[in-house]
Amino acid sequence: MSQYNCWFECVRGCGRRYAIDEIVYRCEDCGGLLDVEHDVDALRDRSAAAWMQLFDRRIHTNEWPYGSGVWGKKEWVMPWLDNENIVSMYEGHTNCFWAERLGKEIGISDLWVKLCGNSHTGSFKDLGMTVLISVVKQMMATGKPIRAVACASTGDTSAALAAYAAAAKIPAVVLLPKGKVSTAQLIQPIANGALVLALDTDFDGCMRIVKQITHDPTIYLANSMNSLRMEGQKTVAMEIVQQFDWQVPDWIVIPVGNLGNVSALGKGFLLMRDLGLIDKLPRIVCAQAAHANPLYLSYQTGFKEYRPVQAQKTLASAIQIGDPVSYERAVKILTAFDGIVEQASEDELANAAMRADRTGMYCCPHTGVALAVLFKLVDRGEIRPDERVVVISTAHGLKFTNFKVQYHDQTLADVESRYVNPPVELPADYDAVQRAIDTALLTFNS
Ligand SMILES: *Cc1c(COP(=O)(O)O)cnc(C)c1O
Ligand SMILES: [Zn+2]
Repeated sequence: MSQYNCWFECVRGCGRRYAIDEIVYRCEDCGGLLDVEHDVDALRDRSAAAWMQLFDRRIHTNEWPYGSGVWGKKEWVMPWLDNENIVSMYEGHTNCFWAERLGKEIGISDLWVKLCGNSHTGSFKDLGMTVLISVVKQMMATGKPIRAVACASTGDTSAALAAYAAAAKIPAVVLLPKGKVSTAQLIQPIANGALVLALDTDFDGCMRIVKQITHDPTIYLANSMNSLRMEGQKTVAMEIVQQFDWQVPDWIVIPVGNLGNVSALGKGFLLMRDLGLIDKLPRIVCAQAAHANPLYLSYQTGFKEYRPVQAQKTLASAIQIGDPVSYERAVKILTAFDGIVEQASEDELANAAMRADRTGMYCCPHTGVALAVLFKLVDRGEIRPDERVVVISTAHGLKFTNFKVQYHDQTLADVESRYVNPPVELPADYDAVQRAIDTALLTFNS
């Protein structure tokens, strides 16, 4: 038994609590979402310095399961779990690198990119799914009658759910909007043996149905309405700070859809502050696609009004969400972190991604949204040249090959491709090849 403890608690402050192994996704008194809360006083039994030392020592250890970026912080994530029930692919510990060339081009010297897509299934969703599936495994081991886990997805949640469920030998059911996820995202849960249901609707439509399906308590809901995932995802905050030798950056820019990830990011920073590991908070910028911008519209009213929108088709398909489930959580975080919400058009997000690709990155469209928003804030002078900025890259660009192909073919709707680099087709002829090289090198630096 751990000396630490956590439980579900209503986010609306009505005080209602539930045990982690209860199958409940909303407060039965007031309908609020449930967050995982920790016994923070118990965590104070170690000093801030002792926690930092412990976390640093565990990086890449082989002592199960602490080599995982998530489970290296197990006491802060899910102390209730037995190590033998943890289902982990050693997720996390993704690289955060200095984007020197791109930063120089836009006039900031301290730009960093946290590549959360360099992970088991190619997106940050692994950080949360390892926690959710581990909890389900423990529930099943202690006799809870769970038959399967299920989620609605814009592509990355389903990939992560399918992989972790397969590793734990738990049946997975995924509901995808037909034709609205990339080929790579569709084939991932198929390969991992999940039941893949492609529905003729959008994400919000899939979400409505999965909520009904999971009224049956034997089908466990894996969407981020279930805050177990946020406990894993919040470790990205600790990782970033740890990667800067426990210094807090000035800004974090993050692409958002259902608003679970930004809520988790904020939660991670607040816990570090409560336990004395840091004494300031970064400012957080939420980046939305203009085609799916309910948070941006609400921000324009000072968060006084909120209206779900009908999300329009966007290249940033993982954030094509019109009615984000974690709206209330995100507004709390943005208020505490002096947050900003900005949006990017299809043209802006595609060109931002490919501009960054020219500096050696390989950006997914959601990272493109974050970069386009970064460019705007730097242009407006809100982000100053000497400030440290971390951009959260949420998925691996290799999941979005069609996005790149169509960009360089100049066939993307609403996008004027400004960084095209089509292949040159030539006969197998020495002179022709040499001429092509000479011509290309003439323009390389222009
Ligand atoms: C899920 C996802 C997001 C959005 O995260 P939310 O928690 O839904 O706000 C952004 N980018 C990618 C690649 C994702 O898979
Ligand atoms: Zn309540």
